[in-house]
Amino acid sequence: MSAAQDPVDAGEPTGLLVDALPAPVVPVIELDDVRKTYRSGELAVDALRGVSLVVEGGEYVAVMGPSGSGKSTLMHILGCLDVPTSGTYRLAGEAVDRMGEEELAHVRNRRIGFVFQQFNLLPSLSALDNVALPLVYADVERSRRTERARASLERVGLGNRLTHRPGELSGGQQQRVAVARALVTEPDLILADEPTGNLDSTSASDVMALIGEVHASGRTVVLITHDRDVAEAAERTVHLLDGQVSSTGVAGTPANRPGGEPRG
Ligand code: ADP
Ligand code: MG
Repeated sequence: MSAAQDPVDAGEPTGLLVDALPAPVVPVIELDDVRKTYRSGELAVDALRGVSLVVEGGEYVAVMGPSGSGKSTLMHILGCLDVPTSGTYRLAGEAVDRMGEEELAHVRNRRIGFVFQQFNLLPSLSALDNVALPLVYADVERSRRTERARASLERVGLGNRLTHRPGELSGGQQQRVAVARALVTEPDLILADEPTGNLDSTSASDVMALIGEVHASGRTVVLITHDRDVAEAAERTVHLLDGQVSSTGVAGTPANRPGGEPRG
């Protein structure tokens, strides 16, 4: 655009002053009235019925709810694995709700680190190669990939397990590899779906401590869990019921502190 076409109001400050202002901070997640209807033949299931949610950068949010309440559906939409039937989703300011498969895959790789209940590591690859994989898709050059994957594994305390394959690691270690893989692209959002669901209690608290460190280092974390103890690690809990947000609470308030209300 030429200077003559520049629409900046003559009365507004321009040049250095404008350039010096920090970029506006946008929320990592902005969901507005998101609905998701699954259709098979005549049957329609309204899995999400108008969910609005804002998660700011650096927040740690747990999503809870009974089976069938829409947690997985929400996780798929937040993770750009699926798109809403209606409503809008902006991820780090970018409208992703109408993107096609290819664009979504690109956004996923660039902006989201996933941690799944089943770890989802490739059994034939070493820990190092598993962690480096998202960088392959991001077109990072090989030596740089190895360097960053090693740093990420060191970060989760597995610098001495680089060449081990998943089958040669404990469940807790495999989930640490998965966290290292989620971090290696330096994503805007870490999305964890029941990350402790397949772990014994010691490994589970280990992995939760690690996710806590990840949050403390400034990352935005959204954790999906049915486990109240796991959800308590978060700063804020969003409860889903029948595809709608039923309540939001802040961890440490009487409603979700141990003993604050009956568990179960
Ligand atoms: P949660 O993870 O909380 O258990 P889901 O998001 O998996 O809940 O499911 C919400 C509702 O949507 C349920 O009634 C479920 O049966 C339905 N549902 C989920 N996935 C599909 C699908 N692919 N096709 C049809 N219905 C689905
Ligand atoms: Mg589910």
